[in-house]
Amino acid sequence: QRGRNQLQFYSEALDLAVRRRQHIATGLRQALELEQFRLFYQGKFNAHTGVLEGMEALLRWQHPQDGLIAPDSFLPIAEELGMMDAICEWVLQTACQQTQLWLQQLAPGRRLSIAVNLSASQNLREKLLQQVEIALLSSGLPAELLELEITENALIEKPRELAEVLEAVAAIGVTLSLDDFGTGFSSLEHVKDFPIKVLKIDKSFVAGIEQDERARRLLAALINFASGFDVLSVAEGVETEAQAQFCREHGCHLLQGYLYCKPMPPEQFMTQFLQPL
Ligand code: C2E
Ligand code: CA
Ligand code: CA
Ligand code: CA
Repeated sequence: QRGRNQLQFYSEALDLAVRRRQHIATGLRQALELEQFRLFYQGKFNAHTGVLEGMEALLRWQHPQDGLIAPDSFLPIAEELGMMDAICEWVLQTACQQTQLWLQQLAPGRRLSIAVNLSASQNLREKLLQQVEIALLSSGLPAELLELEITENALIEKPRELAEVLEAVAAIGVTLSLDDFGTGFSSLEHVKDFPIKVLKIDKSFVAGIEQDERARRLLAALINFASGFDVLSVAEGVETEAQAQFCREHGCHLLQGYLYCKPMPPEQFMTQFLQPL
């Protein structure tokens, strides 16, 4: 009797998960066409001056029934559906255009960089270079203001092919940064083998430093590692003034996190951070 109940429970839960997946997949296939994707922007601030130096673009899906959906809930499915190339193209175009638009409204000479995330299983071959070049050309954004955030795990899969593409992208002036630094495998090698200019220290290393001396030492070591390699360090997930102060004192260059701002729609970001004067 018990076995039968359990079996039934299990199959119902599974059924629900499968239906949820299918629901997402069906909607995703049309999301680009129906213009349901949104980019939210989160600022990156100079740790010492507090000046806004750039933004990270974070993808959201404005679902007609379910509301705003976070990337972790739909990107894995988009990957399985082979949609990542198309999504990446849209993200690059949209982020570059938006940033160029903002730059035109700001004081001349004001610098503002834009960072776009690339996913691990994405087709990181010739297509990426092409997509980047098109996004830059059609928006008019200088290559120096575009940054691509790549996770360590993306670098593990096809190191040789990837190195060539990343060299090519770096050669046109685009900045490469290593996202979620410290959470993947053989992190240290990647900094040597790829043209990485920025290390983004994962938020898991920032959380909890207030309570834990060992966590503090680890974070300090990661920041030191970055400066030892002459790369910029960004601390992500900075939520408290104490965390910001610790990062600052240990020489971290840029800070990003809820303490400064949450990711928000472009109109709101502009009102809050990009008013002239
Ligand atoms: P990520 O690139 O590591 O982005 C950082 C995540 O931390 C974001 O979650 C951001 O909203 C969140 N975050 C920012 N500040 C804080 C903070 O102070 N505290 C905490 N607890 N969290 C903070 P989000 O927006 O849900 O994105 C999740 C992941 O989805 C990203 O992780 C990135 O890997 C991926 N992603 C987002 N947009 C894109 C995209 O356009 N393309 C690709 N391929 N991946 C994307
Ligand atoms: Ca990122
Ligand atoms: Ca990250
Ligand atoms: Ca992450």
